[in-house]
Amino acid sequence: MKSKFPFRITEEHLFCRHCCNLQLHGIYAKETYSVRGGLLPKIPLLCICDSCQTYHIAFSQEFAFAVQDSSNQEYAKIPGKNRLAIGNWVYIKGRPRPGIIKRLFSDQQNQKSLSIDYGNNETEQVQLSDTDTSLNETAPKGYRLLPAQSGETLIGDYVYHVIRDAFGKAIGLVHDGETDKLAIQLEDSTILFLTLSPAYQSLPNKRLEETIKYKLKDLPSKITENIVFKAKSGILYLSGTVESLAERRQVLDLLNTITSMRGIFNTLTIKPKENQPDNILEDKLCRIFEDALHPDLAYYEIKVNNRIAQVRIGYYSEQAVHFFEEQIEQLPGIVELSLLPECVIFPSQQEQKKIQELEKGIRASTDANNKIYIRLANDKIYVLGRVKTLIQKHKIHFSVTNQAFRFLSIANLLRVTSS
Ligand SMILES: [Zn+2]
Repeated sequence: MKSKFPFRITEEHLFCRHCCNLQLHGIYAKETYSVRGGLLPKIPLLCICDSCQTYHIAFSQEFAFAVQDSSNQEYAKIPGKNRLAIGNWVYIKGRPRPGIIKRLFSDQQNQKSLSIDYGNNETEQVQLSDTDTSLNETAPKGYRLLPAQSGETLIGDYVYHVIRDAFGKAIGLVHDGETDKLAIQLEDSTILFLTLSPAYQSLPNKRLEETIKYKLKDLPSKITENIVFKAKSGILYLSGTVESLAERRQVLDLLNTITSMRGIFNTLTIKPKENQPDNILEDKLCRIFEDALHPDLAYYEIKVNNRIAQVRIGYYSEQAVHFFEEQIEQLPGIVELSLLPECVIFPSQQEQKKIQELEKGIRASTDANNKIYIRLANDKIYVLGRVKTLIQKHKIHFSVTNQAFRFLSIANLLRVTSS
């Protein structure tokens, strides 16, 4: 299992069922994600206990580190624990629910107060003590209020247990027989397990399997006949074979519309109808890039090894990445795609004009069947596309060198192919 998740993207203190306490866990992914700025939801992650090596699968949307700050903002600020600002959700100990801060003010004795709106025309004025305005924040975003918010709480969130009047942190989701529970550790080190409300419980395995079976009927049986699946603890384990990456994408897109599921652990493999050699596949892939002449493509590098396509794309706009990803997935014979997109700054208008003129001149001076792009990226001129002969490639290089005197270097990536 660990070999399928080679990249340790971060680490978290999580509850380990085997060690029966809090342990540092490595969080591993199939690709090298950076956790700064968050991750997309539904990415499977393998959590391995550093102490006993026991592992479990979780999904990106279940972790606080993976969720972007703009979404899922149901955190309440607590006086004495947080800086307070107008518009914040705030919770005053002992109240039935949180409210919104409408006003913040100090009187003549510098006594600070809050005016809180609870909705339904219900407001309250609260005087703050000196300790309530302390600025030492452990949880700048605020706290999830438990047990009410057990379902919304993400692993790594700071929590305030209202009934126990205790602060802590969410350290995991555990599946205990038939129920899902949130594990939290309080400041005094007590570990508690809170059963999630029915709306947040995973579907029983059998029901999830029935849902999947029903959903897969939307696809032609030609695609689904060799797919095998199993549900466990709200996770869909998908295996078996399909014929192309495009088919796999269709299956995953469809199954990801099932909301009552934590995520998909996908080991579906691609078994193409016929085996094509790597050089043929590589030629076909190169042609996709050469023939598209996509305006948002800055450069590319393509390699096919054991029918796995490794593609590096420098792009000005992400549309180019989606465009080529879709095209590559449609190509029969490719069994896996490892895509490395690199964002490149779009040239200034002046530079852009120069490059276009250069490209126009070069295209006019060479065989009309040649496909030529000139691009500027990272202070380098890229000459991309394909030509028929090595002489043509050298000639083009020479013209670019002569005309592009102000630029630093030239990467001549023209492919020479007689066909
Ligand atoms: Zn352990």
